[in-house]
Amino acid sequence: MTTTAGPATPVTTDPTATATRAGAVGGPGLPQRRHLVTELPGPRSRELSARRDAAVARGVTSTLPVFVAAAGGGVLVDVDGNALIDLGSGIAVTTVGNSAPRVVDNVIAQVQAFTHTCFMITPYEGYVAVCEQLARLTPGDHAKRSALFNSGAEAVENAVKIARIHTHRQAVVVFEHAYHGRTNLTMALTAKNHPYKNGFGPFAPEIYRVPPSYPFRDGLTGPEAAARAVALIESQIGAANVAAVLIEPIQGEGGFVVPAPGFLPALADWSRASGAVFVADEVQTGFARTGAMFACEHEGVVPDLVATAKGIAGGLPLSAVTGRAEIMESAHPGGLGGTYGGNPLACAAALGAIETIERDGLVDRARAIGERVLPRLRAVATRVPAVGDVRGRGAMLAVEIVDPATGRPDAAATGRVARRCHEQGVVVLTCGTDGNVLRLLPPLAIGDDLLDEGVTVLLEALEALAR
Ligand SMILES: *Cc1c(COP(=O)(O)O)cnc(C)c1O
Repeated sequence: MTTTAGPATPVTTDPTATATRAGAVGGPGLPQRRHLVTELPGPRSRELSARRDAAVARGVTSTLPVFVAAAGGGVLVDVDGNALIDLGSGIAVTTVGNSAPRVVDNVIAQVQAFTHTCFMITPYEGYVAVCEQLARLTPGDHAKRSALFNSGAEAVENAVKIARIHTHRQAVVVFEHAYHGRTNLTMALTAKNHPYKNGFGPFAPEIYRVPPSYPFRDGLTGPEAAARAVALIESQIGAANVAAVLIEPIQGEGGFVVPAPGFLPALADWSRASGAVFVADEVQTGFARTGAMFACEHEGVVPDLVATAKGIAGGLPLSAVTGRAEIMESAHPGGLGGTYGGNPLACAAALGAIETIERDGLVDRARAIGERVLPRLRAVATRVPAVGDVRGRGAMLAVEIVDPATGRPDAAATGRVARRCHEQGVVVLTCGTDGNVLRLLPPLAIGDDLLDEGVTVLLEALEALAR
């Protein structure tokens, strides 16, 4: 979605605003305040947008076309000197905050030592250390192995490869509203047609889609929703053909859908009993985001394989598949890899990000953010009939917007709320198969004051729907 922001309301006019150029220093030392000095986007951002339009393919869009010069804690500072509140974390990536000190220190040391050798040619310790951390942190105390890649989509593709070679089966079960990426296989795994798939086929075969648990829309208990999915799998695919059941423990792009209790454990149990590999796509939910290191932990579910990315490395591109040793070792030597997978800078960043999560207590911080924000969102739902549902865990929170007359998804109203927030210098994102969900993914490094202020702007934009 491209948003053209209207006139901004200047919040302060402090002329000492810093960090307006590329190369400026970000990180937690940036002044933690919202501070608008131009309309959004400002003149320098508009100049850059013109250059962008002449050079960048229009298929790659931006939610809020302000060009960033520096970022840290809970703020993004643009090239015009505006400071915005970041409630998006670059889509759940800068969980530890932008330019988090341990990430910066590790990356500087690594970039000065060497930048790349290719782990498949001559290995280095950082890759091994990240895999050791993944074995320690992911659910379950069984023997594990990991393989590292660059993007979430690449991790998910590799999880499917591994599940297929392990089971000698082909069928992959995915869910309505699922999002797994934009490569050819992951487009097939993803549910939503526009903008992810439309016109980009043909898609990979042997992908089967069944209904998830979506309590706001289906009203089913977790076990009921699982029984519905299992009945379809058994009657239309056949249990003996299923290589993998692939699921986001909380659906991300599809609408921040938290399954009803019991849904995930029932599917995991069915997979185990059927010889299928249970794959958790924790690309968006992982690394403290939901108030647990991994979202599967909320229900005590131990997946066979876990795909991770986004929050793993403080903003550097890194992803992983981690899982039971006997499943991971099914892939033959040379069967997994890639030129850049587990790049040394990204591994150094990941070790800094993991240390930050643990030393700074960010799992607890995510839980506290949820406890702070959810009651305010729930209160607005009682006053604004367009707020159909409020949900989420930890610092992964959402509001589903409906037409109060029909109860139908209302993407237009959702877009209006997002635009109002953007005009006020608060970065919120939308999601949902029907485009009617506002989502909050604040960096866990954000302070309470800034978080409260950002949420207040969102609440005012929601209240405007009732006027
Ligand atoms: C973002 C995302 C992906 C894809 O990750 P990329 O790094 O964009 O390829 C896959 N699964 C989920 C759940 C995601 O949120």
